Amino acid sequence: MGKIKVLDEQLANQIAAGEVVERPASVVKELVENAVDAGSTTVDITIEEGGLAFIRVADNGYGIEAGDIATAFQRHATSKIATSSDLFRIASLGFRGEALPSIAAVSRLECVSADSSSGLARRIVIEGGAITADEPANSPQGTDMTVKDLFYNTPARLKYMKAIQTELGHISDYVNRIALAHPGIAFTFKHNGNVLLRTLGTGDRLQVIAAVYGSNTAKVMLPVEAENSDYELRGFISKPELTRANRNGITAIVNGRYIRSHAVNQALMQAYHTLLPINRYPLAVLEIGMHPGLLDVNVHPSKMEVRFSKEADLRSLIEDAVKQVLSRQRHIPGPESSR
Ligand code: ADP
Ligand code: MG
Repeated sequence: MGKIKVLDEQLANQIAAGEVVERPASVVKELVENAVDAGSTTVDITIEEGGLAFIRVADNGYGIEAGDIATAFQRHATSKIATSSDLFRIASLGFRGEALPSIAAVSRLECVSADSSSGLARRIVIEGGAITADEPANSPQGTDMTVKDLFYNTPARLKYMKAIQTELGHISDYVNRIALAHPGIAFTFKHNGNVLLRTLGTGDRLQVIAAVYGSNTAKVMLPVEAENSDYELRGFISKPELTRANRNGITAIVNGRYIRSHAVNQALMQAYHTLLPINRYPLAVLEIGMHPGLLDVNVHPSKMEVRFSKEADLRSLIEDAVKQVLSRQRHIPGPESSR
């Protein structure tokens, strides 16, 4: 017998969790992305103590079939891709099949789900990666995931967690952005019993901007819309008089996914150019749609970074569209500036 052995699944999941579950916000992100992928129209997010004590995400999506529920918690188990060619045209937010086993490896997780076709519900409880209950249940259609005591069995990671307010800040930031990305979904977000965000799911993005940034901000946003043969751009940008001290007010959404993109930020900044005071940044929500084949999302486990096939074209589409909106705004005074 040699010295090299393949790790057992529980240990492998715990190692993967180090990458996938960086902090409570990563759990919220993965669970909410699953809810969005399930075609939900309502997603309720409830957390306690910055998510370290308690995270619950309940949706009304298509659910997990009773016979599939244990499989969903296996490593690399996914219903979203099947072949390597699927990997080059990803239309869902998830595809790696890593989130559920990773989260379940470092917490006490309970999942109750009822799928849309059979209506049958099942409940599974997993603690530190080990199944402690797997039984029939009663539940309306959809999925209800509860994650308690995150990192209880990984003390080194737990020690690394910041103050509750910091963890809450990361979660809140993510929830705001996924709500901005999906105005058609009604999101509710509660922390320690307080409602921090509620969106209506009417599809009106300006309404979500008002819920996130306030109605005064929503009032000074300008719509932007443009397309070329590969990309479609839609969203809202702030008038140059509304600026912020950092780039956090810029939300880029690509095929329904909130991402961080230097290319998008730069194109936007280039368009405002001298209209902004030095070291000030606009507020913007930009949704970019494209054929999934033009996008590589398999860059990092968090799926926050993407690569565009035709980045230069995308940059000029954004820059030109934003420039046009801003120049129109300057030459034809709107009702506000004419007063
Ligand atoms: P991925 O999202 O990458 O497929 P996950 O580990 O996040 O991997 O989830 C595994 C599978 O469990 C998903 O592919 C999906 O079939 C199922 N699933 C998870 N959450 C939900 C949900 N909220 N509603 C319906 N199905 C879900
Ligand atoms: Mg997922």
